[in-house]
Amino acid sequence: MKMLTKLLGAMLLAYCCVGYAKPPEPYPNKAITLVVPFAAGGPTDVVARMLAIPMGQSLGQTVLVENVNGAGGTIGASKVARAAPNGYTIFLHHMGMATAPALYNKLSYDPLTDFEYIGQVLDVPMTLVARKDFPANNLQELIAYIKANQDKVSLADAGLGAVSNLCGLLFKSSIGVSITTIPYKGTGPAMNDLLGGQVDILCDQTTQTMPMIKDGRLKVFGVTTLKRLAALPNLPTLDEQGLKGFEVKVWHGMYAPKGTPAPVLKKINTALRVALSDAGIQQRLTELSSDIPAANKITASGLQEHLKLEINKWGPVIRKAGVSAD
Ligand code: ASP
Repeated sequence: MKMLTKLLGAMLLAYCCVGYAKPPEPYPNKAITLVVPFAAGGPTDVVARMLAIPMGQSLGQTVLVENVNGAGGTIGASKVARAAPNGYTIFLHHMGMATAPALYNKLSYDPLTDFEYIGQVLDVPMTLVARKDFPANNLQELIAYIKANQDKVSLADAGLGAVSNLCGLLFKSSIGVSITTIPYKGTGPAMNDLLGGQVDILCDQTTQTMPMIKDGRLKVFGVTTLKRLAALPNLPTLDEQGLKGFEVKVWHGMYAPKGTPAPVLKKINTALRVALSDAGIQQRLTELSSDIPAANKITASGLQEHLKLEINKWGPVIRKAGVSAD
């Protein structure tokens, strides 16, 4: 009898654990969270929400956008680096992924080893804008006003690591003047205060500023790319107005925590490509002056190589400027 019990026990063990191991669940079988490291309503959030619906349709599950704000995008990135690598947490971030290692002395994650890469997403220019009633009507007047009223002018940004911060640093160093900076958890809330007149100037992506420039709710002084924007051909670049070499074009990438299985990453990449090839999305992005990268860049290797190049490009610039923090 004892023998029989042992035998039955061994058979049960073999049944449950060896021959009949539970097959892996088909992916995805529940909602996926797309983490955005800035506040709702801002430009990164705009892009995430634009992509979430078609990506969800193509994956057959809802893609929920979660805003994990603060510290120039590093709080969101750190949360994703520690999330379960199961495909249910993915991440949209911009070039702050490449500038953060030089900006933060104690970064809790490594962009090159703590993530899987899904693909590049979008390239977006920035514009230097001010509240509508700001007393300057072009870049030269803006610079003269700042120089004469240095302690009165305020510049909004989304904290060290944000592109609004980087653009502000470049602007301040090109005109050789320091301006009081007010950090927000994203340029969505910064823009609300700009429109409300609580802050004066902001450098932000066209994914947020374009509609407000077009309908006259903001004053605009220039674009941060070396080429003018097709959607605003009369708006000069900062470079052509005398800030020689001023160039910031904000690239975006999609990531997952390190260890996310390759077949899962492949499905997410396919959903991203499907979303970016949607005619409605392409038209909206054109209206916002944003460029979809070439197909070979919407790949894991395309993003990984670009990230490495950008870390090597911005690291020395940032270290030379001496603007790092803990
Ligand atoms: N534009 C912000 C930045 O400066 C990010 C955001 O709020 O989407 O990085």
